[in-house]
Amino acid sequence: MPGLEEAKRKVAELVAAKGFGNTPDDIANKLLFAFIELGEAGDSWKKGKPTNETIEELVDVIFYILDASRLIAPEANMDEVFEKKWAKNMSRAFKYGEGFREKRAETA
Ligand SMILES: [Mg+2]
Repeated sequence: MPGLEEAKRKVAELVAAKGFGNTPDDIANKLLFAFIELGEAGDSWKKGKPTNETIEELVDVIFYILDASRLIAPEANMDEVFEKKWAKNMSRAFKYGEGFREKRAETA
């Protein structure tokens, strides 16, 4: 199982081999396509398709995210960024970000 950096290299290889957009001008489209693939995953799940199909759509999302990431910041090590962000999120309070709804209900 490759790490994010290895997966990013494989995506770059795929993009070059298949002639997909490979410049900073393509970043907005890559991000849009990530959303489209996420929609495909949601549609697959909603329609009760086999879970392997839904999971494959989620991998498409990862492909586009990694592709966008290498064009946005080629120097970013995505394995390190993932670990740092994971640690940051783990350091946050239990259910952080969800409490605001309860607070808003209390003050309404
Ligand atoms: Mg797809």
